[in-house]
Amino acid sequence: MIITIDGPAAAGKGTLAAQLAQKYKLAYFDTGMVYRAVGLLMRLNHFDLNDESKAENLAQKLTFPQMMELSQNSEFRSSEGGVAASIVSSQPKVRAALLKMQQDFALKPVFADGTPANGAIYDGRDTGTVVCPNADVKFFITASTEVRAKRRFEELKTKGKDTPFEKVLQDMIERDERDAKRATAPMKPAEDAYIFDTSALSIQEVVQKAEEIIENKH
Ligand code: C5P
Repeated sequence: MIITIDGPAAAGKGTLAAQLAQKYKLAYFDTGMVYRAVGLLMRLNHFDLNDESKAENLAQKLTFPQMMELSQNSEFRSSEGGVAASIVSSQPKVRAALLKMQQDFALKPVFADGTPANGAIYDGRDTGTVVCPNADVKFFITASTEVRAKRRFEELKTKGKDTPFEKVLQDMIERDERDAKRATAPMKPAEDAYIFDTSALSIQEVVQKAEEIIENKH
């Protein structure tokens, strides 16, 4: 079984994905990681984030183990890391270079320890539209910008990152706009996606709604 969860930053995709992955024994692919990895490599090399050919080159060479190693860097999940990811992800050649790596995961889904899984759950912006257009169940999860910025602010605080709320909100507004307006694979719900607004829902309510849909389909 392949499930996709798309939507803007801090809408609750990761939390939902983790719960569904555990319940249905699915391997989890957080596809934002591929763009965060390329964005971080660009920053570590002091390259201009808008240099598409340099980013494409790094994307072509990116491997799964290298991405996992980069994810240990404290900048990987920072607000600046998200902005860098969204800049490189708006470059069509970078998206093309990273597509196969994402699609291959669905062919042979494995857990972090290498054991085979029953299927995969993807989270990102275009996983139901471009990466896995034939997924069994597709969700699009959203929430108001204020609610999402508050969630991200709290999350960064628990990780010891004291980014001011105004900066988190501003980064989020700019990132949403870039993700929704880019020419290649803009963030949008697949035609057959179930759309949830999680602004006023608890995580338990979101998980329950998703499980009902999955179980009605199988
Ligand atoms: O989900 P996360 O915040 O880690 O994603 C970082 C950035 O990567 C997003 O803002 C978006 O620009 C990009 N992204 C994308 N397509 C995906 C996943 C993430 O363009 N499938």
